[in-house]
This record gives sequence, structure tokens and C-alpha cells, in this order.
Amino acid sequence: MIIHRKQHLVALEEQLQGCGECPLGKTRNKLVFGRGSEEADIVFIGEGPGEQEDLQGSPFVGRAGQLLDKIIAAAGLTEEDYYICNIVKCRPPGNRVPAPAEVQACLPFLRQQVAYVRPKIMVLLGASAAKAIIDPNFGITRGRGKWIQMGNFLVMPTFHPAALLRDPQKKIPVWDDFQEIKRVYDEMKAGTYENNADNEE
Ligand code: SF4
Repeated sequence: MIIHRKQHLVALEEQLQGCGECPLGKTRNKLVFGRGSEEADIVFIGEGPGEQEDLQGSPFVGRAGQLLDKIIAAAGLTEEDYYICNIVKCRPPGNRVPAPAEVQACLPFLRQQVAYVRPKIMVLLGASAAKAIIDPNFGITRGRGKWIQMGNFLVMPTFHPAALLRDPQKKIPVWDDFQEIKRVYDEMKAGTYENNADNEE
């Protein structure tokens, strides 16, 4: 079953190497598909690749990614527990926010990718991911830290790690969110989790 998921993900990544569904495909250096465990119960979703990610072809490998890795490890999660990807798979020039049309072009691929991994928890990192997945009017400052049930997924929006580099005061709420994610994850694994999330559907 695990090989099955990996094969699907490898095939989707290969398919997207030639993707020209939006203009970002023309300016990228490398497609940035995803990294982590294909059998993970937690998927982290960010906005899009930055400079380092575009050069290396892997998500969250720059300064923000290194901070994310530290937060994940400090929360007690291991590499087997999570998979990381982005809303758009190609870098927006100059690290601008992806345009709505670019997000819409790439979302079907993200949905497919997440469907192959089949996580129980989706963590949305930052406003762009939350707006794309939850609601275009979603406000990350007010809405972060609260669970939302979306279909089979329990969704937690929180700040993007790049926002913590700009504003260290955001580290405390993000740490609270990661402790809550770990608590729920542990309860899910133990079979003791009681779902009190708001339902979006
Ligand atoms: S961002 Fe997504 S939709 Fe746009 S070219 Fe890249 S893979 Fe295709």
C-alpha cells in the first residue's frame, strides 16, 4: 500500500515536470513537489517555493524551512509523521504572492497529491494556504489555532514560518498551535480523540 502511494506521487511529480497550466511554469528553475513521508498522517501546506526551494527542487529548505523543521522537531514529531508541500509548485517571481489564477490552476494537483498521501491532519501555513483551502476571505490572525473539519481532514491554520522570521512575537501562538497538533495526533494514534472541530461542510 505504501509503495502504491509513492508510485502515484512519483507519477504526478513526473507529469508536472512539463506543466504549463499557469505562467509560473515558464519562470521556475525546478518544480517543487513535496518532501517527507508518503504514509504520513500530517500534511503541512505552505504558499509556494522561494528562491532556495526553486534552486533545490524541494519545499521549505530555506531559512523559513529550517525554522519549520526546528518547530516540528521541538513539538515531538518525527520525519515519519509528516509530508510537506505547497499550494503552487513553481516559484512566483520575486517571491510575490501567487495570483488567484495561478492558485486555481495548481489546486487540482495539490488535491491529487493530498489524496494520495491520505493524511488525517492538514496544517495550513499562512494566509495564502488558508485562503486557498478554507475560504478566500479567511483571516489568518483571527482564524489560526482553531480546528476545522473539512471532509475527512482535520484542518489547522497557523502562521507561515516566514512570518515568524519577520515578527518573532508570532512564535508563541505558533508554538501553541503545534502543541495542539501534537496533542490531537497523539490522541488519534491512541484512539482516544474526540472531535470538537467546527464543520465546514
Ligand atoms: S504552479 Fe502548478 S499549475 Fe502552475 S505551472 Fe507550476 S505545476 Fe503547473
